[in-house]
Amino acid sequence: MIRAGGPISVERTMALSNAHYYATRDPLGAAGDFTTAPEISQMFGEIVGAALADCWLRAGAQLDAVYAELGPGRGTLAADALRVLRKAGFAGEVHFVETSPVLRAQQAERIQGARWHETLSDLPDAPLLLVANEFFDALPVRQWIGDEERRVTVEGDALVFTTDGPIREDSPAREQAVQMIASHLAAFGGVALVIDYGHARSGEGDTLQAVHAHRYADALAEPGEQDLTAHVDFEALGKAASIGEVEVTRVVSQGEWLERLGIAARAESLADVHPERAEDFAAARKRLSAADAMGRLFKVMAVHSRSWPAPAGFDP
Ligand code: SAH
Repeated sequence: MIRAGGPISVERTMALSNAHYYATRDPLGAAGDFTTAPEISQMFGEIVGAALADCWLRAGAQLDAVYAELGPGRGTLAADALRVLRKAGFAGEVHFVETSPVLRAQQAERIQGARWHETLSDLPDAPLLLVANEFFDALPVRQWIGDEERRVTVEGDALVFTTDGPIREDSPAREQAVQMIASHLAAFGGVALVIDYGHARSGEGDTLQAVHAHRYADALAEPGEQDLTAHVDFEALGKAASIGEVEVTRVVSQGEWLERLGIAARAESLADVHPERAEDFAAARKRLSAADAMGRLFKVMAVHSRSWPAPAGFDP
């Protein structure tokens, strides 16, 4: 494409690369390219489920609310979260936004009766209990050097950047996605949890990264064969979501959020039931919460309709 039509933007490179990447494989787990929080421990999905269940109950336990997840991966988070939600009495439908046929098949094995959508705009007209874990990082970013958009071209057989210099990033795709969530919440009620790695405040810098077989790789090597992501700018996301008729919470670190919502107690009660795995539960809690593991880099932010209370864990 570049040979025929000239250099393309970083944004387009990322979109095309990831479309191929996710459509053709299950990237998760030891045999894949990366591991995510729900794949580390059931405690992650259970706490997400508990946060949503609490919010749903305090909002009046509306019968028409649906569980919605963006980019559900293997369906592990949904399975763990729904176990907790079902115990709390939630009997609503399950809706997944997922483009990858390979991952849809995995999700179908784990979650009976789920429905799939290509885009957010196809979600049903109902109150949402929505979660997106490591979804926004996969949506394309633009990179700017001054007012010039950074582009990618071909040199020999390799892809290279056309220009270098101090970089600023933004992401119309992410802003559009969070705006669609916000207007859906404004119209039908509900709450959305966004969990991802990134920064609470906008800043300068190049955060485009490729991961292959659990290692960082050259971002332009093997296009479509490695996971291309960029850090999520939660300040920009929060601003885009602030459409006036919804509330946007502050951004808290994943570690703080999980500890506030009781991951320590959950690890202990699991250890009581399975004493032989006590060390595994303690290690998983540490990996998810500790500042030098996922606890600080990963952030959590919520958006909720004015008709619903704020979810727990975001108080100053
Ligand atoms: N949430 C899961 C998986 C994260 S990987 C977990 O935490 O384990 C990113 C997920 O988003 C995959 O399921 C991928 O197929 C999906 N995805 C990536 N880009 C997408 C897009 N543009 N539209 C819908 N789903 C997308």
